[in-house]
Amino acid sequence: MTKYIFITGGVVSSVGKGIAVASIGTLLKSRKITVSVQKLDPYLNVDPGTMSPYQHGEVFVTQDGAETDLDLGNYERFIDVNLTAESNVTSGQIYSAVIAKERRGDFLGGTIQVVPHVTTEIKEQFKKLAEKSQAKVVIIEVGGTVGDIEGQPFLEAIRQMRNDVGRDNVLYVHVTLLPYLTSTQELKTKPTQHSVNELRRIGIQPDIIICRSDYPISEGIRDKISLFCDVERQAVIPLPTVDTIYEVPLLLEEEGLGQLVVNKLGLKARKPDLSQWQELTRRIKEPLEPVNIALVGKYVELQDAYFSVREALSHAALYHNRCLNLLWVHSEDLEKDDTDTLLRSAQGIVIPGGFGARGIEGMVKAASYARNNEIPYLGLCLGMQVMVIEFARYVVGSNEPNSTELDASTPYPVIDLLPEQKKVKTKGGTMRLGNYPCQLVDGSRAANAYEKSLVYERHRHRLEFNNQFRTLLQEAGMVYSGLSPDGKLVELCELANHPWMVSCQFHPEFNSRPSRPHPLFRDFIGVAKDILREGAQPSLPLPSNL
Ligand code: GLN
Repeated sequence: MTKYIFITGGVVSSVGKGIAVASIGTLLKSRKITVSVQKLDPYLNVDPGTMSPYQHGEVFVTQDGAETDLDLGNYERFIDVNLTAESNVTSGQIYSAVIAKERRGDFLGGTIQVVPHVTTEIKEQFKKLAEKSQAKVVIIEVGGTVGDIEGQPFLEAIRQMRNDVGRDNVLYVHVTLLPYLTSTQELKTKPTQHSVNELRRIGIQPDIIICRSDYPISEGIRDKISLFCDVERQAVIPLPTVDTIYEVPLLLEEEGLGQLVVNKLGLKARKPDLSQWQELTRRIKEPLEPVNIALVGKYVELQDAYFSVREALSHAALYHNRCLNLLWVHSEDLEKDDTDTLLRSAQGIVIPGGFGARGIEGMVKAASYARNNEIPYLGLCLGMQVMVIEFARYVVGSNEPNSTELDASTPYPVIDLLPEQKKVKTKGGTMRLGNYPCQLVDGSRAANAYEKSLVYERHRHRLEFNNQFRTLLQEAGMVYSGLSPDGKLVELCELANHPWMVSCQFHPEFNSRPSRPHPLFRDFIGVAKDILREGAQPSLPLPSNL
């Protein structure tokens, strides 16, 4: 019988509920209990693929090609699993499914209602993941905060699950925030009491409350929450803000959360082995020499838009015993300001994914700067397209080469729509999505990084390298280091006469893990760390006779 853990959020959003979920998964996995995870998003979009990164942050792509919430990236990185489309359920999907069934006549004669039709559809999604994953425990995070209008059907569905599958098979965990009042110098529990009341009003009594706070939580505060919220004292778990998210599983374990969950769900468990996490956080906390990497993007005001890229860079930096010093460079600033001023301390330049024309010319300037100054460069999806545009402009000696996404009438469409994309009219879920194979070319930097000849990587794009320009750019020094197995699509390219300028049409950032950095990120940082730039000079050893 699958056991379910439902996680709700109280007081405010963005308190790190996703990290708490990922950490609970880690604690169970460390006890050899199999887990899978699902995120319920109350918005009416079918998936976040059509939302602006400013609204939603990064769109995380699963290997089977679903465009999902960025929390899934944290689940994958923490629990080290590859999730599938079933792990992200939105209100948009639920309502579309219910209405499609109604049109088909599945409910003939009936009035379709939120309870039971919508809630039944939601519960089917829980069971579908349980069956597909065969996990012993399925952890389900309800997005948003208790009290949100859109979240009500999800909360009602998780309430019903207690009776459907039995009390012993369901656990409710509530994650709240304890705000700090500077004037009285104390943490306040009232908002937590209110959000627990709100949960109780709809019939859910939390079993465990995780209290996020920027300050240490006293025993008195724990007693108070235990009393007012009717939760055992040991089930009030403090979670103060920490330097690195990778420390959260260890903190929760110290507070006894792992054993508590095992006891409450009656799980068979081994002794937890968190040595990998202890080692990881020990290394993160060591004083390490920084490596300065410029991330040139157009959504840099909202750093969540590049969540997996940032994580992948820091995993790679840690591998080389460096700490990542990320310089967030707005590509539109590069269009106005002097490139050297903005990039002169960067030991490496990353251009991540993106859509639309805004800020592209700034990215092209950054690619040009990397090529001319021999600065390591990693292009991710749009970053590869930018590298190709820049190189083509240099080869033909004009600013005309472009992508047809940015200039439909360019005489040099070096990046163009994929043939199968030309007939696509609708926007949602229609890109080239998910895992595709890529054959690596022996002796290339990419093949050396992977140490393999065939790899699978996750995609999310409509445009591609235009093969008409393959010979022209190849003769000038571009190497096509990864191709689709039929040889038709350029998936990876690099420059022969440059220390490390490598780009890929896919998104390797989604496959990086804290203790297993992605090979391309690893080698990029490996070269970047030895580049000397302004502010990056190591201190000179003083001669002993001074
Ligand atoms: N806009 C480009 C395309 O659709 C790049 C997409 C991306 O960077 N994910 O091909």
